[in-house]
Order: sequence, then structure tokens, then C-alpha cells
Amino acid sequence: MTDSYGRKIEYLRLSVTKRCPLRCIYCKDETETIENELSASEIEKIVRAFAACGITKVRLTGGEPLMRSDIAEIAGRISRTDGIKKLVLTTNGVMLKKYAKGLKESGVSAVNISLDTLDKEKYKKLTGCDCLDSVLDGIEEAEQCGISNLRINSVLIRGQNDNEAERLILLAKDRRIDVRFIELMPFSDTGENEKLIIKGEEILERFPYLKPVEENKSNAEKSVAKYYTADGFQGRIGFINPISEKFCSDCNRIRVLSDGKIRPCLGSNTEIDIRNIIDDGEKLVGALKKAILSKPKGHSFSCGYAGFHGLDKIGG
Ligand code: SAM
Repeated sequence: MTDSYGRKIEYLRLSVTKRCPLRCIYCKDETETIENELSASEIEKIVRAFAACGITKVRLTGGEPLMRSDIAEIAGRISRTDGIKKLVLTTNGVMLKKYAKGLKESGVSAVNISLDTLDKEKYKKLTGCDCLDSVLDGIEEAEQCGISNLRINSVLIRGQNDNEAERLILLAKDRRIDVRFIELMPFSDTGENEKLIIKGEEILERFPYLKPVEENKSNAEKSVAKYYTADGFQGRIGFINPISEKFCSDCNRIRVLSDGKIRPCLGSNTEIDIRNIIDDGEKLVGALKKAILSKPKGHSFSCGYAGFHGLDKIGG
């Protein structure tokens, strides 16, 4: 359906848990949270109601979605829902080796893996976990299982891993993998993080051999990333610039948090609790339509941390 500003909302980002084994320095919100995760059957009902509102694409995220041992069951229930044409997942990759085959068999067609460095020590420093090898194994397993749409998402932080840009870019040279750089979004209220942001244009200036790729995509498939490639590369390099380029006028998304709250906009803290009406299909569809209509025209991250929770809760 179309929201109050004429945007067609077709893409649901569904956080299935707040739990995550990593403590990424820019992500983890330290606030205590009480686990109250939606069950697989509740998720199915919510997705069915969203499909009735015109949602065609679902992304499973978190927290870390692979912390849910029933993730393949959740994926299967969603991919079998009438109206859902595409199911994708975002993961840190740590447990991907174990789940890749099951996810593929349950209808997940594309996987985004978050990876900010290829250096073991740096990985440990950025995430609090000595598990870079598990992530690389997971990527390989996903390729072997025939998940053909693999993308690496990287956040560069000045002075921490910005010197890794080229190594990460080169992952797209010999493999059909897209590597995408996401601008660091605010994660503390000290104002400190502004100095740490590496903007997309800064990376492009450093690598002038990257040339833009023309894309023609449907609304549901529309990506917030701008893609580039280079001679001899099999994959592409993408830039997601939430700080330097606002893409609110093109937003086609709505979010569900792991406890059943609807979040109409990533950059605003408005949440709508639908947990107690999940079993009433008609009421649920009505509430979801209202939530879609309440999407704000746009947002600004310039408010800093106020109103902005760590993406571990919201699902990035
Ligand atoms: N656990 C999964 C993962 O690691 O991909 C899914 C959740 S994670 C919150 C999703 C994405 O959000 C990751 O790619 C992460 O790098 C990104 N992210 C988290 N905090 C961010 C921030 N402050 N700025 C930019 N990206 C952020």
C-alpha cells in the first residue's frame, strides 16, 4: 500500500531477536532488555497480515537472526506465505556455516553478511569476538549451498578500520559478491562519532577506478545502495549513505521489532505495539495499515543518540 507521502511500502524488515554474540563497538546498546521474542507462529501471522497490506519482500534481521535455533522454520513459514515473493537475511555470519543449507532450503534467496575487517585482531577488537574465521567459513558455505546473492556490508570507522577499504573492495574482484560500505550512524550522544564517519564520497575519491553501474529495479527491489564496479570485477561495490544522502523520499520499508512492536521509521522512536492483536487477523491488518500511514516524511540523525537505539534492537 501507499503511505501518506505517496511511497509504496513493500519491504518489511523483521527483527527476530535482540540477542547477538557480538558486541560491535558502534552497535551494542548497553541498556538491559527483557527477552520477549515473537514465536515462529506469531511471526507467520504478522507476515500474513503485512502481505495483505502489500508487503512482498521480507528481510530477517536482529540482533543476530541465527541466534534463533528455529530460524529455518521461521524462514519456511514466511516464504510459504501468499504474496511474499522474496525472503532475504542479514547476519554477522558467525553461525552461517551451520545454517546456510537450511536457510536456502527454506526459501532464503539472498544473504547480507556484516564484515568490517579481514584482520583477525581488528575483528576481535571491533566485535569483542575472535571469530573472523567462522565468518569466512560461513560465507564459503553459503556460496557452496547456492545462495547466489551474497553481499558483504562494511562500516568503516576512521582510525579503526578505514585502511581496510581496499582489502574489502577486492573481495568483489574474483567472486560474484557485492561489497557495500554503510556510513556510520550515530551511536552515542557525545558528538564524538561525527569525526569517525567515513563518507561514501571519501571512499570513492580514494578509489577512482570504481565506475557507476546503471540499475533498473522495481520498487520492492529498489536498494538504498548506489553501485559501482571496476574492470575485471565480478561483483559490485555499493555505497549506503544514510548520513550524507537522505533517502527518505524513496523509503519503501517498515520494521517489526523482535517483541512485536512496529517501527514505521528507523530514525524515529515511534513504536506501535501489536502483540495483543496478533490472533485477530482483521484488527491486525487494520493496525498495520495505520502504522504504514504513520510513517513520517523523513528523519534526521542529526538529533544524535536521542531517540536512536542501537541497531541490535531495531535490526539494521
Ligand atoms: N546481526 C546482524 C548483522 O550483524 O548483520 C544483523 C543486525 S546488525 C544491527 C545489521 C547491520 O547494522 C550490520 O551490518 C551493522 O554493521 C549495521 N550497523 C549497526 N550499527 C550501525 C551504526 N551505528 N552505523 C551503521 N551501521 C550500523
